[in-house]
Amino acid sequence: MKVRNPRTGEYDYNLQEDSTQSVVEKALSIRSAQKEWQNKTITERVAVLKKWLASFTNFQSEIASQLAVDTARKRISEVETGGIIGLMQAWSYRAPQLYNPPAERTSASANTVQIGQQWIPYGLVGVISPWNFPLLLALIDTIPALMAGCGVLLKPSEVTPRFMDGLEKSIKAVPELNAVLKLVRGGAKAGKAVVNTVDAICFTGSVPTGKKIGAVCAERFIPAFLELGGKDPAIVLSDADLEVATDAVLRSCVGATGQACQSLERIYVAENIYDDFVEQITKKATAVTMTTNPEEGQMGPLIFEQQAEKIQEQINDAIAKGAKILSGGKVENINGGLWCRPTVLTNVNHKMSVMVEETFGPLIPIMPFRTEEQALEWANDSIFGLSASVFSKDREKAIEIASQIEAGAISINDGSLTNKVYDAEKNSFKESGINGSRMGDAGFLRFFRKKALLIQTAHPETMAHFEEKSS
Ligand code: ADP
Repeated sequence: MKVRNPRTGEYDYNLQEDSTQSVVEKALSIRSAQKEWQNKTITERVAVLKKWLASFTNFQSEIASQLAVDTARKRISEVETGGIIGLMQAWSYRAPQLYNPPAERTSASANTVQIGQQWIPYGLVGVISPWNFPLLLALIDTIPALMAGCGVLLKPSEVTPRFMDGLEKSIKAVPELNAVLKLVRGGAKAGKAVVNTVDAICFTGSVPTGKKIGAVCAERFIPAFLELGGKDPAIVLSDADLEVATDAVLRSCVGATGQACQSLERIYVAENIYDDFVEQITKKATAVTMTTNPEEGQMGPLIFEQQAEKIQEQINDAIAKGAKILSGGKVENINGGLWCRPTVLTNVNHKMSVMVEETFGPLIPIMPFRTEEQALEWANDSIFGLSASVFSKDREKAIEIASQIEAGAISINDGSLTNKVYDAEKNSFKESGINGSRMGDAGFLRFFRKKALLIQTAHPETMAHFEEKSS
């Protein structure tokens, strides 16, 4: 499989795809080692994670430079690899605190029975991840699953596969880890093979693919932890600090070129501050610099060609239906890469795809609202419910509005805070996902099934217990 370079547009990398047979063999190999892994103490598994942390650090600059080619982002790739080290450190510390099956006790409902409780990890977890944050989203579920004692078959996106070479070296340097964590290369076919062979799935990606995977998991009767798309709204209340709101909304909409599920994608601004908000954010959007020279600038090209087409379609649809473009406004080909400058759109409404479909690009469509009820109605008029933002100087008011938004995480006076806060549990609402939170303690605890050992200490009841009696 030939892979496109997002900066040059050239197909300059060969991805050796795993066949279905190879996926099955990797799964069998992990399964043969997983019981021993599960039987280790949590402290022993943490010791292996720490060895991985050391080997990951050895390969960190190699992984970061491969990731920088995959995503055409140098600084974010450095932050992303640093983030993995943070995740490894955080789980090394937190997992042993959380692994705490309750001590044997007497049942409250049957007092001759002793209860012993065991936590049993899923044997083999499949992790399937997307191209926007290739390394982070490959490992965010993998690390806690491994700490729980699961084996992991990991298939990152075929769109951004270069970083797997360095990552695989870091894994192979730790034999105990290499036995229970294997990478799968390829696209949908390899992904399907993973779904068909594991005991649980953690998937991050689009809603349509998530639904397909969820259906297969339902058929196979295995849990599917699905983290899907978003169309995150921001509500900017009339008393919001405009400097704060415009800075945060801009960064959240166009940071990483808008290619983040938790980026803000539609902005509702109180009528009385609407004109000032639009003027300020347009000024700031126009000042954002592009990394056409990879050593300079703030915003890179679009990673995935097909996404660039969708972004252009949304802009065209909005213009055709009466939207005004105040900055940016088109996907441009510069030296083979596909670029879109921060694009402020006004005169938009929910009949336009830009207000209802996921964009995954640096667009900032803004609508004025008259009442808070109207803002909430629009914010909740979506099939998605990933996250959202509220801006106000009045903390209580912001919380009151946030409580009424149908989404799993609401940033107050900022945007996309879930990209830096990993220790707050959150569930996606509506089609943005399903099942246990990847963030917070649940990110680890969801990989266990609770098993009860019920020990009778008295003589068991006999059939006499069922004897019918006339009263
Ligand atoms: P995106 O990466 O644009 O969000 P997808 O949701 O289609 O797009 O892809 C996310 C991940 O799912 C990728 O690793 C991709 O290879 C994988 N994938 C795509 N289709 C399937 C499928 N039917 N079964 C399993 N994995 C799939």
